[in-house]
Amino acid sequence: MAEAPRPWRGVIEEYRQWLPVTPETPVVTLGEGGTPLVPSAWLSEVTGCSVWVKVEGSNPTGSFKDRGMTVAVSRAAQAGVKVVVCASTGNTSASAAAYAVRAGLSPVVLVPEGRIAAGKLAQAIVYGARLVQVQGNFDDCLKVARGLCERYPVVLVNSANEDGFRLAGQKTAAFEVVDSLGDAPDIHILPVGNAGNITAYWLGYQEYAAAGRSRRLPRMWGFQAEGAAPIVRGAQVSQPETVATAIRVGNPARWQDAVAALEESGGRIDAVPDDAILAAQAGLAARDGIFVEPASAVGVAGLLRAREAGLVDPGQTIVITVTGHGLKDVETALSAAGEVEKVVVPPDAEATARALGLD
Ligand SMILES: *Cc1c(COP(=O)(O)O)cnc(C)c1O
Repeated sequence: MAEAPRPWRGVIEEYRQWLPVTPETPVVTLGEGGTPLVPSAWLSEVTGCSVWVKVEGSNPTGSFKDRGMTVAVSRAAQAGVKVVVCASTGNTSASAAAYAVRAGLSPVVLVPEGRIAAGKLAQAIVYGARLVQVQGNFDDCLKVARGLCERYPVVLVNSANEDGFRLAGQKTAAFEVVDSLGDAPDIHILPVGNAGNITAYWLGYQEYAAAGRSRRLPRMWGFQAEGAAPIVRGAQVSQPETVATAIRVGNPARWQDAVAALEESGGRIDAVPDDAILAAQAGLAARDGIFVEPASAVGVAGLLRAREAGLVDPGQTIVITVTGHGLKDVETALSAAGEVEKVVVPPDAEATARALGLD
């Protein structure tokens, strides 16, 4: 007899024993997690490896930020606060806004003035966040957010937070990879901005291995954009610049943790230029049917460059996290696509066939 189907319950209920929640925690969820792990025929062929893409744009607000936000907002609701605040390059604000209103809390989001993708701005506005544009970059937003939390009755829901709630939620993506593949991959590749996610995955892989759920640990490979590569360069970047707005960060809050993850796992971190990021974004869409935002293509660009440099041995299992949905930032994608041939026809099948060269 077939088992009754069970709907995915969101990361807190699916992975409760691994998370900092108690029976008293009110679970604020939108059914996040349980995202597709899709084989990439393109990248597998190019590398001679078995390459899988973890599609985090399939989360409820279109990025992996939802995994951590369900935990952070549930705990904020449990603590009885009324206002949550975050600094954001865009996706954190969209996620914080959605989860906060669902819990009946007021979201305040701090974004760099004029520097966030239109889709993300629209999300924060439509979810009903109080949107504050800070005259500065992401790092300045985070400073302001921390200042507010020190002096006023608001709770910070950034992954920089000492409480670790966001990272705890985000580590569930590593659990899902192991649950799907039956073990950890040889290499796990991620884009790196504030460096919370790479830290969280490493935590997740270690916890699962320690509990006997996997036999091995992956090497963690991180990639930054060339104009925002403080960890690669070993120095803060005061004016980070890249088309990949979600990783336009000059002083990552989880810098030391990320370096520890790279060292402990025998991994590596490198930088990729914007043109390679946009080419990877286009390739992933046109070859594999996966449309991601520019920051999410950084891992793909990194893998391709590593292969060119002879750093990818064939026969390995590789997972790349693509962090956010392509519809978040259509302006960048369309301008990268350049002039698109305009086909205009009368409402007639034969004329359309002629225009398409089908006849
Ligand atoms: C937040 C974000 C990142 C960077 O993650 P960090 O944890 O800051 O390193 C990458 N891609 C997207 C789409 C994001 O929203």
